[in-house]
Formats: sequence, C-alpha cells, structure tokens
Amino acid sequence: KLYNQVQDLKGNIRVYCRIRPFLPGQPTGSSTVEVIDEKTLTVLTPSKYGKGKKSFTFNRVFGPSASQEEVFSDTQPLIRSVLDGYNVCIFAYGQTGSGKTHTMTGPKELTKESIGVNYRALSDLFLISEQRKDSISYDVSVQMIEIYNEQVRDLLATDGVNKRLEIRNNSQNGFNVPSANLVPVTSTTEVLNLMNLGMKHRVVGSTAMNDRSSRSHSCLTVHVQGRDLSSGSILRGCMHLVDLAGSERADKTEAVGDRLKEAQHINRSLSALGDVISSLSQKNSHVPYRNSKLTQLLQDSLGGQAKTLMFIHISPEPNALGETISTLKFAERVS
Ligand code: ADP
Ligand code: MG
Repeated sequence: KLYNQVQDLKGNIRVYCRIRPFLPGQPTGSSTVEVIDEKTLTVLTPSKYGKGKKSFTFNRVFGPSASQEEVFSDTQPLIRSVLDGYNVCIFAYGQTGSGKTHTMTGPKELTKESIGVNYRALSDLFLISEQRKDSISYDVSVQMIEIYNEQVRDLLATDGVNKRLEIRNNSQNGFNVPSANLVPVTSTTEVLNLMNLGMKHRVVGSTAMNDRSSRSHSCLTVHVQGRDLSSGSILRGCMHLVDLAGSERADKTEAVGDRLKEAQHINRSLSALGDVISSLSQKNSHVPYRNSKLTQLLQDSLGGQAKTLMFIHISPEPNALGETISTLKFAERVS
C-alpha cells in the first residue's frame, strides 16, 4: 500500500501553463493570450503565419488571476507520491520575467498567501509524513545546486566556496551530486532558511550587469527516505524543483563573448530537456539524457516510474509575442 495511489495522473508527464498578469507600472495593453477554459488558451498569431489565433491545450491553464494556492493545489498529488517512493521533477520554464521564480519561490516579499511551490511542497511533505508517523518513519534532506555554463555548483556550500561539482551514478542513490552539501531538515522554517541561503549564493555569483539567476538553472532537490516500522523495509523518493534559465533566444546581433557562450549553453540544455521529455512522451526507446548536465542529473527522475510536471510561463505583453509563441511551441513538443 506504500505504492501508487496516484494512478489518476494520466501518464507521467503533465504540462501546466501559467499566464502572468500585467505588472503595475508597466504599459498595459491587450494580452496576446486569452484563456478559453481550464485547459485551453489562444494566442494571437503574427501576420507572417497568417493573421488570427491559434489554440493550445494543456493539462491545466492558469490565467493571470490564479493564486499561488490554486496553482499549487493541482501539484499536491505529486508530493504524496514522493513519500510513496517515486521520483518527481517539477520545472518552471519561460522567458525571463514571465514568472518562473514567482511560481517556484514567490515574490520578493513572501507572505503565507504569496509563497511559492517549493515551500508549499515541503510543507505538505512534512504534514503527510507526520500523518503517517505511526507506520513509516521519514528522513528528509535537501540539496540546492545551480547549473551555469554546463557547470554544477553547490548553492548550500558552507565554506562559501562555489566550487565545481561532478555528477555521479551509483547503485544506491542513482544519479546525484555526492559532494553537494546534503542538509537534513525537519521543519519548513529550516527549509526556508536554506532556500534563502541558496538564493543569496546565487546572487553573489552575479554582477550588477549580469543577472546570473536568469541564465542558470537552479535545482532544489528533496531526498526522502522512509522506513516501514513494521517490516523494516526502506523506500526512497526524491523531488527536484527546478527554476530553469530564461528561455529567450539571445539577440543574434548583440550577443558576443561571454553572453554568447551563456546563451548557447542555455539553448542547448533547454533543447536537450525538450528532447528528453518529448522522447519520453512519445515512448521512444532511446532517450538522449547525455546531451546536457541538467538531463544527466535528472536522469532517474525523468521517465520510468518518475513523474514530471512542467509549468510553462507566459508574459502577456505584445512585445513578448515572439517568445510567447516559441514557449508555446516548446510546450507543445513536450506534452
Ligand atoms: P522569472 O523568474 O521568470 O524571470 P519572475 O518570477 O521574477 O520571472 O517574475 C517577474 C516579475 O513579475 C516579478 O516581480 C514577479 O513578482 C512578478 N510576477 C510574476 N508572476 C506573477 C503573478 N502570477 N502574479 C503577480 N506577479 C507576478
Ligand atoms: Mg527568475
């Protein structure tokens, strides 16, 4: 009975689309996307594709007024399955400014209402493990890493040294980053402190001109080990909460040097992720995990029995239409 209670999730890959509201202080206008129903939106198509609207269907569409709580509520079955011994990946995809960090972490000023998926997921995890404590004893620990220019770095390094780490594969833990700090946690307060520490390290690595957080992937990994108190058997589950690098294409005329290199790394790793997920959803026998650090790291948590949730983020502004369309095309490929 420790096993799958979430067969209601049709297939193992789900794609949710979230549309950001227009932000205060920005020019308003009419949104390029329109929510039709819980699963459908339409987007304006520029004239070169023939004027009109094209519709897209997802497992869920969240409009600009959807609350953090609403967005999370459809994510909850995944948390339960981590405690049942499954591996889970939750991704936030979209161009810079579309709301990835808002969904995963929350806005700058965090409140109970505005806090994001990461904290809510951990909070649920502690709640459910408490409910099960008479039959299963759970240990929870977290890691937080960043992938920047195809290099893996520890965001929870205690010595503050942001050294390069290797991804390893071993029989007990599968693919992991053994030298990244692994911190046992027992409460959401501890998790919040660690998340703040990790965010601070992510910012320290950037200069004023160079907002690194939009050009690196950050991954909060939650490792769960449960011991069945009557049989003594052990189960392991793990959840990766990934705030991806901005998906915008570098301006071909402007990106040179370091910026160009960064942009190429991002393009390559996001398309490697798209390739992996789309070959999983098409049930291809060959899944190209090896083409990026991100997909290598997540290999055990993508495919097989693992469950994947991709949040696709849309900016509603007319000047974002090009990126919006390419984001929707990415989403179409992985759903
Ligand atoms: P990204 O991480 O994709 O670059 P952010 O999450 O930083 O984007 O969002 C950009 C800005 O828009 C932030 O100020 C954020 O708080 C705000 N924002 C994003 N999504 C929402 C939302 N659903 N509701 C209100 N504000 C949002
Ligand atoms: Mg962000």
